[in-house]
Amino acid sequence: MKGQMMHYPLTTNTIIEYGNRVFAHKEIVTKLPDGTRHCYTFQDMYVRTKKLANALVNQLNIHPGDKVATFAWNHYQHLELYYAIPGVAAVCHPLNIRLSHEQVEYIVNHAEDKVIFIDATLVPFFEKIVPLVDQVQHFVIINAPQHFKTTLPNAIDYEELIANESSDFNWVQVDENDACAMCYTSGTTGAPKGVLYSHRSIYLHAQIVLSPNAGNISTFDKVLMVVPQFHVFAWGLPFVCMMAGADMIMPSSHLQPVSLVEILDKEKVTFATGVPTIWMGIYQELKKNPPKEKLLLRDYMVGGSAMPQSLVEGFEKDFGITGFTAWGMTETSPLGTVSRLQKMHSSLSQEERYKTMVKQGIEMPGVEIRIVKEDGTIAPKDGETVGEIQIRGAWVISSYYKMEDNSAYFSNDGWFKTGDVATMDANGYLHITDRIKDLIKSGGEWISSVALELALMAHPSISEACVIAIPDDRWQERPLACVVMKEGETISAEILKAFLLKDFAPYQVPDQFISIAQIPKTSVGKFDKKELRRMYTADGL
Ligand code: ADP
Repeated sequence: MKGQMMHYPLTTNTIIEYGNRVFAHKEIVTKLPDGTRHCYTFQDMYVRTKKLANALVNQLNIHPGDKVATFAWNHYQHLELYYAIPGVAAVCHPLNIRLSHEQVEYIVNHAEDKVIFIDATLVPFFEKIVPLVDQVQHFVIINAPQHFKTTLPNAIDYEELIANESSDFNWVQVDENDACAMCYTSGTTGAPKGVLYSHRSIYLHAQIVLSPNAGNISTFDKVLMVVPQFHVFAWGLPFVCMMAGADMIMPSSHLQPVSLVEILDKEKVTFATGVPTIWMGIYQELKKNPPKEKLLLRDYMVGGSAMPQSLVEGFEKDFGITGFTAWGMTETSPLGTVSRLQKMHSSLSQEERYKTMVKQGIEMPGVEIRIVKEDGTIAPKDGETVGEIQIRGAWVISSYYKMEDNSAYFSNDGWFKTGDVATMDANGYLHITDRIKDLIKSGGEWISSVALELALMAHPSISEACVIAIPDDRWQERPLACVVMKEGETISAEILKAFLLKDFAPYQVPDQFISIAQIPKTSVGKFDKKELRRMYTADGL
């Protein structure tokens, strides 16, 4: 028997219509690449988005199902594109601006992008590869200064494109399961792969990100989007804020800790997101130059890699700011789990509270997670048994874009195999120990690189640590620790070994420690283990 409720498609069109109807006065503030502050309302954005939709159809010949890419920082025009492109039933494809020329060229060709909207400051990058992406029909330049010149073919200025268009546009009708947007994985562990999201998956994911057990975002919030829009749609926040009526603060290229702290302070930000390296930078900057008044930041959401416990503690003790961890992937839109404390945690010691806060947390409603052991059986929820995280749910990938054989990525019963290794405790808190590819196999025993890194980063003389496997004749692999010392500090390998031996078995402790000036980072700010392995294993130590 069928239910008797209306069929109301969950689309991004309904999100922007809602934002304009209910929160027309809410603001979007951008610190533009040239440093100027731009501020307008949801209603202003709505009007311009409709003009842009007209331009996509009338001037750029965009049809349903076409892929339209962006190559841009986080700013208001990028938000307009997020809604206008799906609004004409095309697919919005934010390209990662930090990838190499080869990777971007590969992705643009693989996705078959028809038009690319590009920031003027990023144009020189594309001029180098333009002969190799010849199916792109137009380049639209955003925030171009006067007299801007480019060799990109068919280049049009964004403002000129929309200037004479009407703001009257009927969104193209789509099914909620139609493609809405796409992202490629950032290739931390292999070649980039395309993930094609539906209107429905974007909508349902956004509702969960704003819910109390996750972001707890409401009309009282001012949300700073540090996570790039090309990194899984800034973790869904452009859709979340429109639904929640939260003001959006866009930093564009101003991502250095000093600029971020200034924005947090001046714009009275209450909620922000970022990978751990961003929060490390912000913490150090706050310590060096504390703002005159206490920040209004009530919460920060950290994800993308494991957050050092010492940092969560530091933020809370030194600045009264609490953070929480979220886990997810490009393939999961991204939010899968969140680690917030619950009432049952109120009796825990301070130390146990922090330990829980840096776990990856509990499943969000709409997804299911299981831990599968190497022998294929499901691990018990004992907080000890390790296995691979498998996930299924309403915003989880069902197959990669244009990949014929997906069998390596899915279990026989259809769950997505994440490649992350974790335990789950009796309360359902997930705790990631590593990625399968980063685990170190020494003499038949597994060593967690993440556990060693977090322990090393808790040492008062160390600011960053990254552990990789290096080949070893006797043990097959051994851990190598690369550490970045805090300014003016030095420390011997012997002391570090003794420090680790307090928590680790002797076979787990690295034999070699290398002090380096900085750890290479991936395009989304994570420690780049692929690059470290290239540096230290190919050359042989
Ligand atoms: P890429 O796979 O290219 O790095 P993603 O952003 O999709 O790009 O990364 C997803 C991966 O990031 C996860 O599979 C996991 O290994 C890691 N990750 C995400 N969130 C966390 C977290 N809170 N703690 C530890 N690792 C995380």
